[in-house]
Amino acid sequence: MDLPRNPTRAVVIGNVIIGDGNPIAVQSMTATKTANIDATVEQIHALEEAGADIVRIAVDNKKEAAALIEIRKQTKANLSVDLQENYRLAEVVAPYVNKLRYNPGHLYHHEREKPWQDKVRYIAGIAADNDCAMRVGVNCGSVDPAKLDKYNPEDSISPMLESAFDHCEFLDSIGFTRYCVSLKDSDPRKVIEVNQRFAQERPEIPIHLGVTEAGMPPDGIIKTRIAFEQLISQGIGDTLRVSLTLPNPRKHEEIAAGRGILEDIANGRVRTVVDFGTNTLNIISCPSCSRVENEAFVDLAQDVRTMTEYAKEYAITIAVMGCRVNGPGETDDADLGLWCAPNYVNLKRGGEALGAFPYDEILPKLKAELDSLIEERSKE
Ligand code: SF4
Repeated sequence: MDLPRNPTRAVVIGNVIIGDGNPIAVQSMTATKTANIDATVEQIHALEEAGADIVRIAVDNKKEAAALIEIRKQTKANLSVDLQENYRLAEVVAPYVNKLRYNPGHLYHHEREKPWQDKVRYIAGIAADNDCAMRVGVNCGSVDPAKLDKYNPEDSISPMLESAFDHCEFLDSIGFTRYCVSLKDSDPRKVIEVNQRFAQERPEIPIHLGVTEAGMPPDGIIKTRIAFEQLISQGIGDTLRVSLTLPNPRKHEEIAAGRGILEDIANGRVRTVVDFGTNTLNIISCPSCSRVENEAFVDLAQDVRTMTEYAKEYAITIAVMGCRVNGPGETDDADLGLWCAPNYVNLKRGGEALGAFPYDEILPKLKAELDSLIEERSKE
């Protein structure tokens, strides 16, 4: 079955071209410590063998940047580097990768001294000088703070969209058009809406699809499939990632899941369910990456799912995140949120921080909060 495709422009990423009707590229991200060169190279090879078109790696400091240079010597994979606050590392790593990904939400710190436009101009200049593409990666948990103030807190889509439009317009204005955009949320319904609205306004910009913090299989695959089926069937999407919480040796399963969804859509095997997680317990968890603060994270996410089984009839969202980079922001919309530090786990209920607890104490604390939330809900 020939799928419709939006008339996006072609963007070259190493030996892959996305957009302009090219096959939808499937990506994943390494979850090893980037500084552990052997483990990261091994994971890149496993991802390539599984059929990854592009592999993303997080680099947050000079040690990891030095490791990436060594990693490049051992692989020809199309590499994308994930930049967060330390965007200046772009200069060090760009000669060794094919794509730079930045998150607009991380470029608004110290706005007075250095406006975000200066930072984007800098990153785009580095990309252009080093034959790299870029991704403007907008996530629900981190956007321009001014946009959050402008909209009703219930409306998480408009701030994401406006942030994306601002960055696209700015990149266009400086003549850098070799980029794609992603707009991710953990709720597949929001992913559908935000990407539809973006594509309607800017149909020429290639889109990277993903449901962030989709969680563990099978739920994580089902949530992602719901969004991808709707969007890809409408011609939206040029590259994708299925983000799953998986232990390290199984990271390549993300690629198999992405390829499986694409094959099913191409063969017309499409479901129509779009209300996953709206009336039941919804566990969201990040796919983990080099930034994960304690290897126990994946076990913790699995233990949370097992321990909370008894509450599955309640419309409660619990978020489990691997680090402090995205943990505080990405747990904001959850009823209960956990994010990992090296020796303890932070717990919050709604917007209220409840403290930090050792790994062996967090489950009973979480259970007490969950019970009290259920009691509260049953009185409503
Ligand atoms: Fe990586 Fe942290 Fe995001 Fe998890 S929350 S994927 S550990 S950056």
